[in-house]
Amino acid sequence: MDFKIMPKSALPDWVKKLTILYRVVAPVPKHGQIVFDEITDPSTLTMLYPQSVLPPKKYLFPQHEVMLNYKLDGSWFEANIESEPTVVLGIHTCDLHAVKLFDRIFSQGYADQHYQARRDDIFLVSIECLTPCTDESFCRSMGTLSATSVFDLHLIDLGEDYAIEIGSDRGESLLNGFKNVFNATSTDEERVNDRLKDKWAEFPYRLDFDVTELSGLLAENFSSEYWDELGEICLACGQCTQVCPTCYCFDITDERSLTGEIGQRTRTWDSCQIDMFAEVAGGHNFRKSRAARQRHRFMRKGKYQMDAYGLVGCVGCGRCAEACLVGITPVKTFNAIHKRQLEKEEA
Ligand code: SF4
Ligand code: SF4
Repeated sequence: MDFKIMPKSALPDWVKKLTILYRVVAPVPKHGQIVFDEITDPSTLTMLYPQSVLPPKKYLFPQHEVMLNYKLDGSWFEANIESEPTVVLGIHTCDLHAVKLFDRIFSQGYADQHYQARRDDIFLVSIECLTPCTDESFCRSMGTLSATSVFDLHLIDLGEDYAIEIGSDRGESLLNGFKNVFNATSTDEERVNDRLKDKWAEFPYRLDFDVTELSGLLAENFSSEYWDELGEICLACGQCTQVCPTCYCFDITDERSLTGEIGQRTRTWDSCQIDMFAEVAGGHNFRKSRAARQRHRFMRKGKYQMDAYGLVGCVGCGRCAEACLVGITPVKTFNAIHKRQLEKEEA
């Protein structure tokens, strides 16, 4: 691995320099929680944070975006592509895995030019997690506890210094001209290895089985009564999907001006868990029960994405577990399904 070393005391100067050249977004404390927000003052950011309320996906896939402007008489229409050179600083490795999944999803079939434009303008600066974010995190079980290939720079906290792994030429360019960055020595490499080795003991496995079994396990239990039990308690509030770094369901709306001459097509985050999501023409709802929607959600997280893209559809961040008022969580769900499978096999 190709490392640089930056003293921690130099981080504010580096970030300040970045803010002159780019929009910089980073984890900042707000109302007792952590949110990703644009910063201009490096003293507002925190690199040691439990978990942001929303993942940084909002910079790749905004909550609300105008996709198309047009005249209603059909004589003109134009795609609205918005992007801005942006450094996303301090991303945890689970969220990095979620970006990798999005890169696959949004580039296959009809490549999403809105996503692509923003992605091309984004620099990902991630940070190694050394302790679990919350009691609900299960990144180790999902295999997302280490950085994956999409980062531009990856920081590892060595105490007084950061080790910086270079992931791309454009990542290295973020360090160009900054004096307080040094080539790593063999001693530094040993410090990095020790840090990475020691952290694993901090992260418990929370699934009772190996994640490679998950897709098959869910397939076997498509008709499980467990989904009905989840449907009985789910409030259909959609909070679990709103906070999820791998959810990307959206609604498309056409809005016309008051004069009726021009219109806009907009895309807004939606949730497969709310009652109206699957309602189509004629009032037919193809996923009307909450049980069917919960099943669909967990099938996507544990099976469908893995089958389609070869990557986990849940990165184990634990945000949905923190957000759910009735205590529905991926860990409880996957372990309950696994337990029932064992009981079936023993019967
Ligand atoms: S399903 Fe829950 S734990 Fe998994 S990635 Fe989404 S929010 Fe995180
Ligand atoms: S947050 Fe909980 S109650 Fe709300 S839709 Fe998701 S699973 Fe159901």
